[in-house]
Amino acid sequence: MIEISKTENILFFIFNNIEYKCIIDACSNPLCHCKSIHLLFIKKSDENSEQIKFHLNLKTRKIEEKRKPEEKYKLFADTFLSELAEYDYSELENIHYNMKMHYTENSDDTKLKIKFDWMDIEYEQTLIVYNQILRYGVPLFFDFENIKYRIWDYYCLNTRCTCTEIIVALNDYYKGNIIFSDIKFDLKKNYWDTSSVSPKSKNIDNLIKALKCKYPVEIFLHRYRKLKTLYYYYLKRNKNFSKIYPGLLEKIKIVNI
Ligand SMILES: [Zn+2]
Ligand SMILES: [Zn+2]
Repeated sequence: MIEISKTENILFFIFNNIEYKCIIDACSNPLCHCKSIHLLFIKKSDENSEQIKFHLNLKTRKIEEKRKPEEKYKLFADTFLSELAEYDYSELENIHYNMKMHYTENSDDTKLKIKFDWMDIEYEQTLIVYNQILRYGVPLFFDFENIKYRIWDYYCLNTRCTCTEIIVALNDYYKGNIIFSDIKFDLKKNYWDTSSVSPKSKNIDNLIKALKCKYPVEIFLHRYRKLKTLYYYYLKRNKNFSKIYPGLLEKIKIVNI
């Protein structure tokens, strides 16, 4: 029998009439898409007893060959897998997703090796979408007048640009199509500018009021600083950038707000 506690990221499993507590963890690399969860079982009645460890891949629903349990615990692991129902897998998927989000939002951005299309950022002023760079970054949702929106936030990372503005687009969460685009948000002034929003709508200011309530400027500042830091360290690793712009990185501040 398996019982999963989503709030604590643990599960309970009974094997040979002995109850085990299992601590669930996920692969902590925000850039890795392996869908592996790490399981560590301990006897509930004796927490100092030997631990049983293995990794389970939620995509293949198999034990990771490189992280399989000790041979003597093979039956234990096989029994555990055979008892996992469809419902349990979806619970584990949720836990995995939430943990990946946690690891992503709390990562050491000086070490995370993300690649950027720096030529586009520097020459074309291409804006960067937070959730496209960080797949497990927290997705932003928002309800207004019976419509569920997905917020896409675009950031300017150009090293020579001093703007503090981001561009926001609101999509229909279910259908995926853009409903409003070109909403500007100045992070320094904490000012939403809807003058160039497309399409024009009388209701946009009320919508923005509700959005501001749910997502204060700090949320976007966190995302802005994170992307700026990631990009800065990417450029530091990129020798071509330093060749074209010698000494520039030493001059710029990672974050200007
Ligand atoms: Zn991984
Ligand atoms: Zn800019």
